[in-house]
Amino acid sequence: MSAGIVQAAYIVAAVLFIMSLAGLSKQETARAGNYYGIAGMAIALIATIFGPEAQGTGWIILAMVIGGAIGIRLAQKVEMTEMPELVAILHSFVGLAAVLVGFNTYIDHGDLTGALLNIHLVEVFLGVFIGAVTFTGSIVAFGKLRGIIDSKSLMLPHRHKLNLAAIVVSVLLMFYFVSVEGSTFALILVTLIAFAFGYHLVASIGGADMPVVVSMLNSYSGWAAAAAGFMLANDLLIVTGALVGSSGAILSYIMCKAMNRSFISVIAGGFGTEVVESADQDYGEHREASAEEVAEMLCDAKSVVITPGYGMAVAQAQYPVHEITDKLRKKGVNVRFGIHPVAGRLPGHMNVLLAEAKVPYDVVLEMDEINDDLSETDVVLVIGANDTVNPAAMEDPNSPIAGMPVLEVWNAKHVIVFKRSMNPGYAGVQNPLFFKENSQMLFGDAKDSCNKILEHI
Ligand code: NDP
Repeated sequence: MSAGIVQAAYIVAAVLFIMSLAGLSKQETARAGNYYGIAGMAIALIATIFGPEAQGTGWIILAMVIGGAIGIRLAQKVEMTEMPELVAILHSFVGLAAVLVGFNTYIDHGDLTGALLNIHLVEVFLGVFIGAVTFTGSIVAFGKLRGIIDSKSLMLPHRHKLNLAAIVVSVLLMFYFVSVEGSTFALILVTLIAFAFGYHLVASIGGADMPVVVSMLNSYSGWAAAAAGFMLANDLLIVTGALVGSSGAILSYIMCKAMNRSFISVIAGGFGTEVVESADQDYGEHREASAEEVAEMLCDAKSVVITPGYGMAVAQAQYPVHEITDKLRKKGVNVRFGIHPVAGRLPGHMNVLLAEAKVPYDVVLEMDEINDDLSETDVVLVIGANDTVNPAAMEDPNSPIAGMPVLEVWNAKHVIVFKRSMNPGYAGVQNPLFFKENSQMLFGDAKDSCNKILEHI
């Protein structure tokens, strides 16, 4: 394949990637968006493998077959609830790849001299730095999402000074690295500093801010890929990396706004988020309801709002939830869904599950669209949600989730909370909602509870 054809293929692939992102921004067009992405990636791979610069095509194909087989196996095995972990670990691979590409192009930098050599060295240095931060940061995010690493924020003394020191030392090392026209020692040293920096940056962010971290690492992995593109002089990798980097940054910004967090404070490793953990407080007694009672309550209601959360995903309760919705709507009950922007464990998690169960889009509303209507709602079903319906976010300034907008379900006449125990949610914060006078708990697996309710409707 000639260089001209490869360039043309790269342009087509880049356009397809942009169309893919545009498609993915709406539920109705998301499927088409995925197909554009697949087509773009297929074109890009074929052009790269058979292009004039490719060496050892046999080896590349062998690596792709092995990698592809592992990828297919993992994708088939992964549960929807484990998706964020998979995404996090995949980001770590992008980071590691950028580090390896950096070292490779440093060792084999051809016969560059003067300004071109300096530019090349800066590219290598930045690529390795961003890649290493993404690598360890993503591994910590993976650990926190999987529950292997404590989701509470790591609070080292002088942590902000440590971060600042890491950046200053890295900048100085970069000047040294360029001035001596490359130093293996400096490159290894900055890799180690960036590994520690990435680890610390994500470890110091608390549980409830994890959604922002995941999208932020998505963004970093994009910049790491763009940096690799510069090092390899590959235009498509630069374009793709920039697309991922900027869309991840925009998503992080949107998530920060949704959670009322400062973007800068989250990316600076939880800057200014020191919170005083309130001592164990006595919230009083909770009340329990049976499935039969809930079914009766639902049949008597005029309006019902369902607020799903992570527990609905764990229980795979979206199907019986849809059936309940269907039956009630046929009886003339106005049933709608209220979706918190960070419900579940990945952006859009609840929307995906409800779409999978074929719940019509027009009854699925965003938090801001439904919050004002909750005071006129007869029954709210909180299905496996916890942090996203926690009044402490509004009432307790010392709470780790203080200031985060939540679904104000307690304003409804009756609230039924579906969960298995009184355990807290992801952020590890007790929920005063469970003890309010108009709240009742329906204990058990959310899917079983929904099926029992269905029997009685
Ligand atoms: P939470 O994680 O706050 O709570 C989920 C609740 O579901 C738990 O209290 C649990 O209680 C219950 N549950 C678990 N399994 C079942 C089951 N089988 N049947 C019934 N209930 C079950 O969920 P939310 O969706 O309200 O909040 C999301 C949290 O995750 C937020 O803190 C958010 O910041 C964080 N997060 C979100 C990400 C995103 O992008 N959306 C990414 C990373 C983190 P019990 O054990 O008693 O059953």
